[in-house]
Amino acid sequence: MLSIKNLHASINDKEILKGINLEIKAGEVHAIMGPNGSGKSTLSSVLAGREDYEVTQGEVNFDGKDLLELNPEDRAREGLFLAFQYPIEIPGVSNINFLKTAISEKREYLGQEPATAKEFLAMVKEKSALVELDAKLASRSVNEGFSGGEKKRNEIFQMAMLEPKLAILDETDSGLDIDALRIVANGVNLLKSPKNATVVITHYQRLLDYIVPDFVHVLYNGRIVKSGTKELALELEEKGYDWIKEEVNA
Ligand code: ADP
Ligand code: MG
Ligand code: MG
Repeated sequence: MLSIKNLHASINDKEILKGINLEIKAGEVHAIMGPNGSGKSTLSSVLAGREDYEVTQGEVNFDGKDLLELNPEDRAREGLFLAFQYPIEIPGVSNINFLKTAISEKREYLGQEPATAKEFLAMVKEKSALVELDAKLASRSVNEGFSGGEKKRNEIFQMAMLEPKLAILDETDSGLDIDALRIVANGVNLLKSPKNATVVITHYQRLLDYIVPDFVHVLYNGRIVKSGTKELALELEEKGYDWIKEEVNA
């Protein structure tokens, strides 16, 4: 589904990603962990196609397409979804209208029939129940005046509505209390299917008690320096990152 080969990226001529290699297959959940400043958010921003980052080397193939050739909107329409650490607020645009537009644009791009009003409302009902999002929040302006927990829940709701092939959650657990964490994780787990994949970026092991990853990768200084299974996350929780830094710098 996603194949990243030797990806290098810079911001303001400073190289942040220094040769990322990563293969993600449909049905898999990958966790990316690593100390602050390693390049985790840079990797998600580069995949999303944010302009401030310059890809200087490497390839990214997403479900048969050259991802780096696509503009950010088309990446989303191809089925890439990014949930950010700090969700944006869109005053004056209701959640519902935001999603209606996104979904019809996506269907049009993919050459599919538009959703009828009835289908759309049925989806809203089903997906908001899934993430236990108050129906009132669904019709309010996107994230405006939402609490931290509500924003995260809303992100998972948006994700459920957009039915991405690949969802990347960048520290979507930061600032969540245990209940909200459980709801986010439940949403992610319920959406899991053999046809889609999830990348969970997290600084802490905590989220991985709820979303069990098939693979865990450590990103440090712009490279994936270690990969393993969920046991690696437990080891990191116990021992921190210093031993990894020592291994890399030895
Ligand atoms: P992480 O998400 O792993 O904490 P980031 O990807 O946010 O790491 O940051 C990686 C590195 O890139 C850090 O050293 C950070 O200071 C640097 N960086 C991020 N954004 C910018 C920017 N806009 N300008 C300059 N440096 C940046
Ligand atoms: Mg950070
Ligand atoms: Mg980050």
